[in-house]
Amino acid sequence: MVDVDAEQWCLVVEKREAEQTRRRLLEEGLLDRRYKPRSEGDAVLLPVTEEIAGATRRTFVTVPQRADLPRHDLVGGIAILQEDDPEAAKRLLASRPSLHTVLFPETPVEGEYRTRRFAVLAGTPTTRTRVTEYGLRFDVDLAHAYFSARLSTERQRILGMMEEGERVLDMFAGVGPFAITLARRAELVVAADLNPAAIHLLIQNIALNRTGNVIPALADAAHLPRIGLAPFDRVVMNLPLAAPAFLPVAAALCREGGTIHLYALEEREGEYLPHIRAVTVGNVVERQVRTYSPGKWHAVYDIEKEG
Ligand code: SAM
Repeated sequence: MVDVDAEQWCLVVEKREAEQTRRRLLEEGLLDRRYKPRSEGDAVLLPVTEEIAGATRRTFVTVPQRADLPRHDLVGGIAILQEDDPEAAKRLLASRPSLHTVLFPETPVEGEYRTRRFAVLAGTPTTRTRVTEYGLRFDVDLAHAYFSARLSTERQRILGMMEEGERVLDMFAGVGPFAITLARRAELVVAADLNPAAIHLLIQNIALNRTGNVIPALADAAHLPRIGLAPFDRVVMNLPLAAPAFLPVAAALCREGGTIHLYALEEREGEYLPHIRAVTVGNVVERQVRTYSPGKWHAVYDIEKEG
């Protein structure tokens, strides 16, 4: 294949951070290995597969691809193929020593628990694996509880916004990636989910990371205001299809001047501003997290609770 210049999203990082960031992107399946990373002044440009937080556009030279390997996402030791192709799955498994299983999703993300059903195409017949993210470890089971490695940059962004000693509520915690990440700066994190399998894994992940300040709650987030919790400094709402309906609950549990992070799937900028304005007059900053499908994207609204 002839090398050509192509424009792609990338992260611009300092040289001393480049290797660590490259490894993280690789682990999360976000490093775009079709292009060669390159230097620009004192910075290194790392091509990424999509428009993640902080990404910018640059041109890159393509690297020759192994045409026989199928496109896939990586979650720990599991590769998720886009095609139901057992032969390609076997080739992929053989080419990557870090993989133990190759799956094909038989359904989209669905239901209240936001899970998918998978067929095992190659390797160990399991949907369980361990993911490493910024030095934290998460045991996940892709068939029984939601997990997306693609939000790791977002978790770090919120961690970066936090003051030491905050009280945080994660209303839709899943296996705990936001809760356990934010626990690094928080005094206390309450992490709720109504999926028992997610809470089971969350408890394992709290133990795995020796996190002493996350309280798991097997609960419908709608019930949380009734148990008399003191107001939180920060509330995370990561349930993109339904979270806007829970905004009154989040507002009731957030202190004046605190912050609510609302993740939503939208088709036009500011789509959820009317929902937000119904609960607060505070400052709102909206940003696009990643594209979901043509004309639809995941957005996050950072909302200040006021009034
Ligand atoms: N925050 C986690 C993450 O980033 O991996 C999980 C996000 S997942 C998109 C949404 C989670 O909300 C699922 O684990 C689902 O079980 C949970 N959920 C759905 N409805 C809920 C409700 N009413 N109360 C609490 N949790 C709920």
